[in-house]
Amino acid sequence: MTTKPTPNPNDWQPETRLIHGGTVRSPFGETSEALYLTQSYVYQTAEQAEARFKDEDPGYIYSRFSNPTVGMFEERMRLLEGAEACRATATGMAAVTSALLSYLRAGDHIVAARALFGSCRYVVEELCPRFGITCTLIDGRDIGAWETAVKSNTKAFFFETPANPTLDLVDIAAVSRIAKRAGALVFVDNVFATPILQKPLAHGADVVIYSATKHIDGQGRCLGGVVLCSEKFLKDHLHTFLRQTGPSLAPFNAWVMLKGLETLPLRVRAQCDTAAKVADHLRKSRHIKRVMFCGSPDHPQAALAARQMTGSGQVVTFEVDGGKAEAFRFVNALQIVLISNNLGDTKSIITHPATTTHQRLKPEARAELGISDGMLRLSAGLEAFEDLARDLDRGLAAI
Ligand SMILES: *Cc1c(COP(=O)(O)O)cnc(C)c1O
Repeated sequence: MTTKPTPNPNDWQPETRLIHGGTVRSPFGETSEALYLTQSYVYQTAEQAEARFKDEDPGYIYSRFSNPTVGMFEERMRLLEGAEACRATATGMAAVTSALLSYLRAGDHIVAARALFGSCRYVVEELCPRFGITCTLIDGRDIGAWETAVKSNTKAFFFETPANPTLDLVDIAAVSRIAKRAGALVFVDNVFATPILQKPLAHGADVVIYSATKHIDGQGRCLGGVVLCSEKFLKDHLHTFLRQTGPSLAPFNAWVMLKGLETLPLRVRAQCDTAAKVADHLRKSRHIKRVMFCGSPDHPQAALAARQMTGSGQVVTFEVDGGKAEAFRFVNALQIVLISNNLGDTKSIITHPATTTHQRLKPEARAELGISDGMLRLSAGLEAFEDLARDLDRGLAAI
């Protein structure tokens, strides 16, 4: 029997990388990726155990450090993103916290866009300062504000683009140039764009973070997170921090995420198409004041969206004509779109940010972010658009 040459995943298109990338088969030759539910690993001899702990034998030691199923997921994500290194974590927030805290020290300073996911804002606004890491929050859309906020001890820039829920964008390339001059690293929370529609590393960012809970699983099952970075960042900062503090992704969850990645491009593109139709549908109603969607020409940063994203994203944010009462009437009239705070799911989901994801913020902070009481965020799923349109009409009629 002749053995086939080993293919090089770098020659593959993203869709192919997401099906075959990172797969390591056991001697049984399974088609689907194997699920290794094991805490630790057995050594042939005491000498082998010693060698492994000394890093002289390449095998596994303990699943807090590494696991074959988690390793397959990390390699597949690495190939998709085009990064040098990847580590998976238990949640998106574990990824954010580990990426920042593994790198920053007391006396350092972060500049962050204020339009951050609520828990990310807690990390930079409340948690980091407790350990002597200060933070300046700015309007991420304003390039000048990044420049002005830089101090001699600025070590990190942190933002998400598009931002939740307003879909404001940050110019990754322009902000990364300012960071380079300041000697700071750029951390991008790329959840809303997904790894399919935006590649922050190609625009100059240093570290990319995902909540795999969202589109990567995409079917509402498991929590997970991902950090993508350079070999150097991994070696100097992240590797030891993750091993010693232990926010590890469970093998079962990694296996679910691997399956999610196989269909990610199909799901994201179909969801973007549906989101565009939802945006158009809502725009036609006199009960809707404003529709925000990264794919529409009237997005205030449409040119930037076209430059750094290869698709619209699947979130549509809109303001009903009225306040909380009208928004609640809209939401409560829906029968197919679910009321939940997740996004990127096959099921369409609607959220009232002011009373849920952003209720922790003071009203002034919400106003500063442009989050009104009449604002709703819709994550388009994979249902037939005709059914969603009828559902939205139920909501519009209830306003
Ligand atoms: C959900 C989310 C997170 C946190 O992810 P978890 O998996 O819930 O911990 C971080 N950033 C953004 C933009 C998110 O949407």
